[in-house]
Amino acid sequence: MASRKVAIKEVSDSIFHLEFPTIHLMCSALIRFQEYYECPKFKNKIFTLEEYMDWYAEKFGDFTYFQDVAGFNIPSYSLNEFYGGDFDPLTNKEKKILQVFEKTKKPYYIIATSSASATQENDLIHEMSHGLYYINEEYHNRVKEILKGQDLGDIYKWLGKKGYNKVHFLDEAHALLMEDSRSFSRSNFRASDYRSVRRLLRNNYDSHYVPLRSKTKKVKI
Ligand SMILES: [Zn+2]
Repeated sequence: MASRKVAIKEVSDSIFHLEFPTIHLMCSALIRFQEYYECPKFKNKIFTLEEYMDWYAEKFGDFTYFQDVAGFNIPSYSLNEFYGGDFDPLTNKEKKILQVFEKTKKPYYIIATSSASATQENDLIHEMSHGLYYINEEYHNRVKEILKGQDLGDIYKWLGKKGYNKVHFLDEAHALLMEDSRSFSRSNFRASDYRSVRRLLRNNYDSHYVPLRSKTKKVKI
């Protein structure tokens, strides 16, 4: 049986990275936390995994979530209802994740990637940029300044098709633009069309991301 140990580390101030040994473990543990935060259908609603799976399969033709998703990003406030008992029952994996962060000072941000992903380094930059966007006000404001007046129409269209919530389009577009050019072009965009904005976003990332020297905790999920 594959390992179920997740490596948890505070990688930057109040940003916690969870590294999962398999994509299955990552998705099955985090899917409801993620979709409660950002699904166009289930954001801020109480739902079961079955309801989510049915909705996804209807929208995309099948339940391909575990192949479609490479990383996760969850702000602490979207766990409140899970801690409050609104999601009843919780899965065992959800309970374990909630236990880990029970005493963590808010606000914090959880990002997750899997060592089984072929693009993990890129996944991590994408998710880290979501974390900084939430945690670091200066970073956040600079992203908005950089993207103001940029033509993001094609990216927004793509995000809509992929089932992202409109509320998060700007954050999501910026995280996509932060990706390496190879990963960025999987979405049929050409990195060269966005060269200057990508460079500005990279510079902003480099000047705000301060890695923390903290211990890695291994937790069995
Ligand atoms: Zn994202």
